[in-house]
Amino acid sequence: MRGASDARSLGVCRTSKDVDISATHHTEAHTYEDDEVIRPADDPGTLRFRCMGTRGSIASPGPGTVGFGGNTPCLDVMAAGRRLIFDAGTGIRSLGEELAGVGGWAGGGGSAGAGGSMEGERRVETTIFLTHFHWDHVQGLPFFMPAHDPGSEIHVVGPAQTGPDGEELSVQDLVQGMMGSSYFPVPMAAMKGVRTFGHLNEGTWEHDGVRVRAMRVKHPSFTVGYRVNVGDRSIAYVPDNELLSDAWPVSADWRARFVGFLSGADVLVHDAMYTEAEYGVYAGHGHSTFRQAMEIATEAGVGELLFFHHDPNRTDEALERLVDRAREEAVVGGLAFGIAAAREREWVEAGP
Ligand SMILES: [Zn+2]
Ligand SMILES: [Zn+2]
Repeated sequence: MRGASDARSLGVCRTSKDVDISATHHTEAHTYEDDEVIRPADDPGTLRFRCMGTRGSIASPGPGTVGFGGNTPCLDVMAAGRRLIFDAGTGIRSLGEELAGVGGWAGGGGSAGAGGSMEGERRVETTIFLTHFHWDHVQGLPFFMPAHDPGSEIHVVGPAQTGPDGEELSVQDLVQGMMGSSYFPVPMAAMKGVRTFGHLNEGTWEHDGVRVRAMRVKHPSFTVGYRVNVGDRSIAYVPDNELLSDAWPVSADWRARFVGFLSGADVLVHDAMYTEAEYGVYAGHGHSTFRQAMEIATEAGVGELLFFHHDPNRTDEALERLVDRAREEAVVGGLAFGIAAAREREWVEAGP
C-alpha cells in the first residue's frame, strides 16, 4: 500500500510448531458445493482489510469517538477472495449483520461491496482468529449473526490458555465459559454456524495460498499477534503487546524474533494505546506507546504503521494531534513508512 517498503523479506519468519487444529465442536458433517458458499469476488493476489473495531479495553461510543470508532477490536480481512476475521470485539456485530444481509449496515451503499462485493444469498464461510480472550477481543462473538445460522461455515481458532491449576483451557472451553448462563442468555450450542474450534498458539494456518502465522507477544495470558501473507503481500496484526516490558514470559531473543515476524510487512497494525507520559502510569498493563510502535516498525522495515487499540478516553481530536506529532517525529527521524491511526470501516490495501 502507500509507501510500501521495497525491502520485503518474505520467508524471514519461521514458526516453530505445526498448527494444531482440533475440530471438537459441531462435528456433524456438512459440506457445501462451491456455488452454495458466497465468496466475495476478488483477485487471487489481493490482500486488503478494514478495522471494524479499533478501540481498546472497552467500547467507547459517543460524539468524541465517531471518527476513529468506538468499537473494540475486529479486523475484516479479504485475502485472495477468502474472508478472514481477526478478533471478535464489539465491531464484529455490525460485520455479521452486513454479511447476513440484515440490519442497519446491510442495504445502504453496499459497504460489503467496497471490499468484496457480496452478492446474492448470504451464506458465510470464514475463519475467526482470536488473539486472546480479554473481553474487548471476544465479547462480540455471541452477537455475530452468521454464527447462529446453521448454513454458515465458521471456524474459530486462537491460543489455548492455562487455567488456574495448570490445566489447558481450549478455545472451545473459553468460549463456552463466556457464554455460560450467568454471563449470557444463549448457550454456545446455539451457534450452529460454528463448525470447529481449533488451537493456533504459535503456528501456521494455510489454505489456498493464504498463510496466517501466529506468534506469542507480551501481554497478560497467552496472547498472539498474527501475520497474513498472500504472495508477496502481507499485513501484521498485533493489537495488544507491551514492547518495552520484560515482565512477560517470553524468551530472551523475543524482540529479534518479533522483528523477523514483522519484517517487511506492507502494513503493521500495532498496539499504541499510550503516550509516553501515560506509559509512566500504566507500564505493566500489557500495552505500548505510539513511539514504541514506531520503533518496532522502523526495525522491521514495514511499509505502513497503523496505531491501534486506541485508549477509550482518547477523543478523535486528541488522536489526530498525536498522529500529527508522530508524523513530525517520523520526518525528523527520516522514517520511511507511512503513519496513521486505524479508523473504523476504512479499507486498507496491502501492497503496491
Ligand atoms: Zn485489548
Ligand atoms: Zn488484552
